Amino acid sequence: MLIIMTPGASKKEIDNVKLFVERKGFDAHPIYGEIQTVIGAVGGKVIDPREIELLDGVKEVIRITSSYKLASRVFQPQDTVITVNGVKFGGEHLGLIAGPCTVESYEQMDKTAIALKKSNVKILRGGAFKPRTSPYAFQGLGEEGLEIIRAVADKHKMAVTSEIMEISQIPLFEKHVDIFQVGARNMQNFNLLKELGQIRKPIMIKRGLAATFEELLMSAEYVLSGGNKEVMLCERGIRTFERVTRNTLDLSAIPVIKKVSHLPILIDPSHGTGLRDKVAPMSRASVAAGCDGLIIEVHYDPDNAICDGAQSLYPAQYDKLYHDIKKIAPIVDKKVI
Ligand code: PEP
Ligand code: MN
Repeated sequence: MLIIMTPGASKKEIDNVKLFVERKGFDAHPIYGEIQTVIGAVGGKVIDPREIELLDGVKEVIRITSSYKLASRVFQPQDTVITVNGVKFGGEHLGLIAGPCTVESYEQMDKTAIALKKSNVKILRGGAFKPRTSPYAFQGLGEEGLEIIRAVADKHKMAVTSEIMEISQIPLFEKHVDIFQVGARNMQNFNLLKELGQIRKPIMIKRGLAATFEELLMSAEYVLSGGNKEVMLCERGIRTFERVTRNTLDLSAIPVIKKVSHLPILIDPSHGTGLRDKVAPMSRASVAAGCDGLIIEVHYDPDNAICDGAQSLYPAQYDKLYHDIKKIAPIVDKKVI
């Protein structure tokens, strides 16, 4: 429920409304604007909005039929901008993340980072805990993998993003990671999402293989309602009948999410297509459609990558793409560093 106060409503009136909804079991989240204040009321039982409309200083009460509220643009009209190591996601900014699918060794991460540094990469990706379809496939280096990516990122003054799979890993991730990635398969790991609401580092939630936009936004709502405001969403392709590409990259995610939510929306064209030669065209299309960021798999030697080599760019391909992105972004009023 959103309570729109009248322009110039007094502090006393705002506090009174807050108190009223809190007594009804809601959590009140006021956003104080220069002219007008909006109070988001979350969590309480369904109540008759007229009870609130009768209070002094209330202009109107909007019942949000969609179940997400804090993720909604009605609740927060202005874009959320998330900054990590000088890279911004959201608003007029487009942020870039690159690195291999998985951490294989110090040497592999270091060689990849050395190459990516030349293309101004400031956030390094690399999975240490890998959600693999087969239990016999490489599961990631685990804690050692996180230590490696952190050491390499520190050496090159980069930030780290890596995928977290369960609650017990949170302390380890707090130590080594700057952006917690929740993978497609864990998008609805609600217990994990709740716990991630308690931490104070950005969370990137990837769209599930068969998840609707509303379900993705509900997952974001879990984190936001815990008090963590730094949530970004990532479209990484969904499962369709098509077999040429690994997934079907649904770029309509960009205008759809941007219309209803203030959260940054990133695109992962690597998992979205599964094919190296499709990554650059789909990245350019994502930028043209107004995405707030891209996460791209790059390996110094993709032909010998342990995992996802076929969709990983060679560093030279990434460099070319980076320069193309820099040309396209200003056309849609976006800045890239
Ligand atoms: C990844 O980014 O390494 C990954 C496993 O992605 P997704 O969760 O989108 O499959
Ligand atoms: Mn991968």
